[in-house]
Amino acid sequence: ALKSIARRLDLKAYVEQNPQVNQILRHAALRYVAGDRLPEGLDAGKEILRRGYSLSIEYIGENTSDAKECEQAAAEMKALIQQLKQSGLPGRVSFDLSHIGLMISPSLAYANLTELARQAEGTEIELFISMEESGKTDRILSVYKQAAAEYSGIGITLQAHLNRTPADLASLTSPGRIRIVKGAYQEPDHLSLARSPELNERYLNLVELAIRQGHQVSIATHDDAIINAVRDRGLLSGSQAELEMLYGIRPELAKRLRSEGNPIRIYVPYGREWYLYLCHRIAEYPPNLYQAVIDMVSG
Ligand code: FAD
Repeated sequence: ALKSIARRLDLKAYVEQNPQVNQILRHAALRYVAGDRLPEGLDAGKEILRRGYSLSIEYIGENTSDAKECEQAAAEMKALIQQLKQSGLPGRVSFDLSHIGLMISPSLAYANLTELARQAEGTEIELFISMEESGKTDRILSVYKQAAAEYSGIGITLQAHLNRTPADLASLTSPGRIRIVKGAYQEPDHLSLARSPELNERYLNLVELAIRQGHQVSIATHDDAIINAVRDRGLLSGSQAELEMLYGIRPELAKRLRSEGNPIRIYVPYGREWYLYLCHRIAEYPPNLYQAVIDMVSG
């Protein structure tokens, strides 16, 4: 909801035209975002790797309906893959398909995705597709399935809150890479579960099912209840599962889990559209609004 308000108010133009607002909001965003540009994303990524975490990295953007902007986004991701390759850094490049063409046509998203896949082939670099609103799920899964049948190293995110997800997971019969999240978007009640113990139980069942199906699973959450259950059930002790957390969210928890020997991946976003990313983080956890205000006034 916050994001659609941001879009309707044209926050992008507002932020770009008001240097003071830009500076204040940016200060709050820097808790969760590495910076505006690729070198800043890479520097943060190197630091994450140096501290013993695995790395995901995202060039922020979504819902791009201008073909030229889609090309620019794909070019930025190619440059990111190239830089990771040149620096010998293992990493997972994450993105929304709606950033590289899905809003125009699934075939454009597929073409850009497979071009990225060709560039990453033969390296340790993975490509990881984020999951967006439920209205896009069919198209995202279809592009993913088509590309994953041709290229290894492409992963997909599934949202536990959607009622359809157990069936979607069952439909992914070839072992691959799967990230399981609760879901960041507001969805209608008849399609989804709200945050609840029932959702957590579904989340854990999905993780167990994905492991049984032979997938490599990223358990992407900051929820103590899920993390404790995952550890109690011994799901992190094999080589098939890891925890994945967002940069700047509960960093002390990530550090403690890492020091206890658990495999942890940190998801580092960068890019000029950081204000949308900040809206996401506030929307999924409203107390972040207070934190953002504190960050803004202390800037
Ligand atoms: P919640 O029940 O939301 O939160 C549990 C506890 O974690 C909270 O009580 C709080 O202590 C802490 N916490 C959670 N969120 C925050 C926050 N923003 N700031 C501070 N503390 C917080 N969603 C999608 O829909 N599509 C995606 O492709 C996607 N990719 C993701 C990739 C990664 C690596 C991660 C970690 C999340 C991703 N998400 C994605 C977001 C996800 O769906 C959730 O909205 C987000 O992870 C918060 O849910 P939670 O599991 O942490 O549990």
